[in-house]
Amino acid sequence: MEGINTDEVIEEFEALTKDAGMVQRETLERILEENGSAEYLQNLGLNGRTDPESFKSCVPLVTHKDLEAYIYRIADGDPSPILTGKPIPNMSLSSGTTQGRRKLVPFNDELMENTLQIYRTSFAFRNREFPLEKGKSLQFVYSSTPGKTKGGLGAGTATTNLFRNSKYKNGMKAIQFQCCSPDEVIFGPDFHQSLYCHLLCGLLFREEIQFVFSTFAHSIVLAFRTFEQVWQELCDDIRDGELSSRVTAPSVRMAMSKLLKPSPELADLIYKKCSGLSNWYGLIPELFPNAKYIYGIMTGSMEPYLKKLRHYAGELPLMSADYGTSEGWIAANVNPKLPPELATFAVLPNIGYFEFIPLNNDAERLYMDPKPVGLTEVKIGEDYEIIVTTFAGLYRYRLGDVVRVAGFHNSTPELKFVCRRNLILSINIDKNTEKDLQLSVEEAGKLLAEEKLEIIDFSSLVDLSTDPGHYVIFLEITGEPSEEVLKECCDCLDRSFVDAGYVSSRKVKAIGPLELRVVWRGTFQKILEHYLGLGTVVSQFKTPRCVGPMNSKVQQILCNNVAKTYFSTAF
Ligand code: AMP
Repeated sequence: MEGINTDEVIEEFEALTKDAGMVQRETLERILEENGSAEYLQNLGLNGRTDPESFKSCVPLVTHKDLEAYIYRIADGDPSPILTGKPIPNMSLSSGTTQGRRKLVPFNDELMENTLQIYRTSFAFRNREFPLEKGKSLQFVYSSTPGKTKGGLGAGTATTNLFRNSKYKNGMKAIQFQCCSPDEVIFGPDFHQSLYCHLLCGLLFREEIQFVFSTFAHSIVLAFRTFEQVWQELCDDIRDGELSSRVTAPSVRMAMSKLLKPSPELADLIYKKCSGLSNWYGLIPELFPNAKYIYGIMTGSMEPYLKKLRHYAGELPLMSADYGTSEGWIAANVNPKLPPELATFAVLPNIGYFEFIPLNNDAERLYMDPKPVGLTEVKIGEDYEIIVTTFAGLYRYRLGDVVRVAGFHNSTPELKFVCRRNLILSINIDKNTEKDLQLSVEEAGKLLAEEKLEIIDFSSLVDLSTDPGHYVIFLEITGEPSEEVLKECCDCLDRSFVDAGYVSSRKVKAIGPLELRVVWRGTFQKILEHYLGLGTVVSQFKTPRCVGPMNSKVQQILCNNVAKTYFSTAF
C-alpha cells in the first residue's frame, strides 16, 4: 500500500492503548499547556495546573449553550485568546438535525490531525481484513459552500472544513480514499446534480471501484433509491457520451465532459445488469464488481436504513465507520468484521480527554449531580454520557451522546453508540429515547414486511393539544398498505413502547392513544430539502426523530403531508 504502512499504524495504536490512563493524563496536560492563556481557563483559576484532579475541581461540566457567548465572540472576530491559546481559524456547523438549530463549534489544525489519525487507524484495521487493490472509491460526499462568520472566519460543515484542507487531501490519498468523482461534483452547487454525477462517475469507473462510502448510511441508501429512478437516463448519458440536461451547473458540466465519451458497450452492459436484478437486490456488487465493502456510519440513528442497504449490498460486507462529532473525534472502529449492529469504537486516548457520566443510577439518570469517571475507570456493560475536552477549546463539554462499554482494547474502552441522551418522547413519567422509538418502529416494520412493504423513514412528536397528551408517529411507507395492516401497525407502535412509565400512564389514560400518521411519498425528501436550504449538506443529514415545537418548519412539513391517520386501540 502506497503511502501508509498499515502494520506500523496498528502497532502505533497498540502502543497508544497499552496504558490509556497515562496517555490521557499526558493529553490533558498538553491541552491545558497549549491553551493555558485562554481567557476561559484563566477565569476558572487553574493557574497553570494540568493534572486531572485540579482540572475536574476547577472546570465545570458545560453544554454548548454555556459556551455560546465565547464561541460567538470568536466568530465575530475577537482575536484575543478566548477558548484556545492560538486563534481559531475556522468554525464548524453541526447538522442541527436534533435540535433544529445549527451549532457553531471551533475547528482547528489539531482537529484536522485527529481526523486523519482516526481515519488512518480504522483504515489500517480494515485493510488488514479486507485489503484494497489499486483503484478508486465511489463516495457520496457533498460539500457546502463555506460561508464566513461576521468576523471573517471560515464557517462550513466539519466535512467541508476537511475537504478544503490540503493536508486532508494528501492524508486521504495515502489511504486510498480518492473519490472517482471530480472535485467539481463534490463542490457542486446543487445536491441532486452532484448525486446524479457521483452515480455516473461510479458507473464510468465501475471496474476500478474498491468500495462505496458516505459519511452516513442514509446518504448511501438515498443514492441507490435515486439510482432506481434515473438508471436509464444514466445509461443514455453513457451511450451517447453526453451529460443529461438535468445537470445545469457549468462547473459540473465542464468537469463531467472530460470524463464522458460515447460508450455503447458499457451502457448495454449496465442496462442488462439492471434489468436482470430482482427488485434491485444486490445492485451494488452488480454495478461495482470489484468493490470489497460498503463503508459509512451505520450505527445509532442510521440503523433503520440497514435493511435497505443490505438489500442493495447483497453479499457485500457493510462496515461501520468511526465515531465522532463536529466538536471532535472520539473513537475508531478497529473490529471491522463485526456487523453494524454490533460495531464498537475504540477510544483514541491521545485525541482528547474523555470523561463518562454513569447512567445506571437513577439520581444521575435524572441529571442531578453527575459524577463522571475517567476513560479507564468505565465498566463493561454500563451506559455513560460522554464528556469531551478537545484541542479546539471545549472543556468538559457534554456531547449529549449515550454510549455503552462493550469491552476493552488493551486498556482503552470499546464503546457502542446507544443514542442521544435527550429524551425525545416524554409527557409525564414516561421516558423514551430515540432508541426506544427506533425499536417500536422496527416492530411495526415487521408487520409491513409481511405485506412486502417498507418504512422509508419516520419521525415523531408529542401532541399536548389533546388532553391527555399523546405520541404521534409519522411513517413514510412504500406501496399501499391496507387499512387493516395500518391499524395493526398503530397498535403495535403503541404496545412496543415498553418503558414502565409509558405503559402505566397508558393504562390509566394519563397518556392518550398513540396516533399513527402516514405521510405521502416524498415527505421526508422535503424535510431533507428544508435542511439543505439551511446549509446542511446531505452527507451530514440525520432525519430528526422527534420534532419539538422549536422545529416548527419541519413540524409543518410533516403535518401538511398526512395521508392517513389512525389512533391506537392497544390499551
Ligand atoms: P454532528 O452534530 O452533525 O457533528 O453529528 C454528530 C453526532 O452524530 C454525534 O453526536 C452522534 O450522535 C452521531 N454520530 C456520530 N458518529 C456516530 C456513530 N459512529 N454512530 C452513531 N452515531 C454517530
